[in-house]
Amino acid sequence: MNRETLQFTFLGTGDAAGVPCYGCHCAACEIARQHPGFQRHPSCLLLEKGKDRLLIDAGLADLRLRFHPGELDAILLTHYHMDHVAGLFPMRWGPAQALPVYGPDDKRGCDDLYKHPGCLDFQPPLEPFIPVRIGSWIIEPLPLKHSRPTLGYLVTQGDYHLAYLTDTVGLPPHTRERLQEVAIKDLILDCTHPPQESAPRNHNDWNLVSQIAADLNPQTTWLTHLSHEMDCWLLARELPANIQIARDRQQIKRQIVEAIPV
Ligand SMILES: [Zn+2]
Ligand SMILES: [Zn+2]
Ligand SMILES: [Zn+2]
Repeated sequence: MNRETLQFTFLGTGDAAGVPCYGCHCAACEIARQHPGFQRHPSCLLLEKGKDRLLIDAGLADLRLRFHPGELDAILLTHYHMDHVAGLFPMRWGPAQALPVYGPDDKRGCDDLYKHPGCLDFQPPLEPFIPVRIGSWIIEPLPLKHSRPTLGYLVTQGDYHLAYLTDTVGLPPHTRERLQEVAIKDLILDCTHPPQESAPRNHNDWNLVSQIAADLNPQTTWLTHLSHEMDCWLLARELPANIQIARDRQQIKRQIVEAIPV
């Protein structure tokens, strides 16, 4: 057996509005103005194992400044809402080597990304429940419930499983059943809203998150895609130890055991 270290870094954990939210003076927004560590930027997660680097979602507008050409093996998109793809718009015009981009079957994409991809090398749409290998990662796309075609991702390295599920409101039954077959170590989950009186339409609230975490029973659930209202609600709450609030720039390391190929 081969022991290795994997790490994931939350680069963006906010909803489309971000924290602080433009013009808002709630407690969470004021804290974020005074302490940049509490700011939230749009969705982006970096996965690293040795030299293998994969980005899930590309919402950060300054992606082109964060990564040199060749540093990323590929970008996986959950869907084509602007807060998940904004960083691709300036990045594509550079004279860089081709960068593979994977995502769901969405004929429209976002604005003119398909028409003028530049260095972005859009791959054929991923098929739900059909795993693909990208470098040393095994990635299984899982349909989510959102206003655009959206895929969550089950990421596997050796004996380690991470599920990244945003944006979604609840889970489609087949996605839930598939994830219940796997011992998930880290579940990264859309938790945009505090508890709502009526069921939310497009994103999880805390009630749905609690239900999904109970259904999937991961070792740790990480809340992401948080709104300023959710941050406000969290100011007065203690969460169970196995549910963590993700923060921008937070980095998590995991020991993994790799099976030696026979
Ligand atoms: Zn606010
Ligand atoms: Zn969305
Ligand atoms: Zn979003």
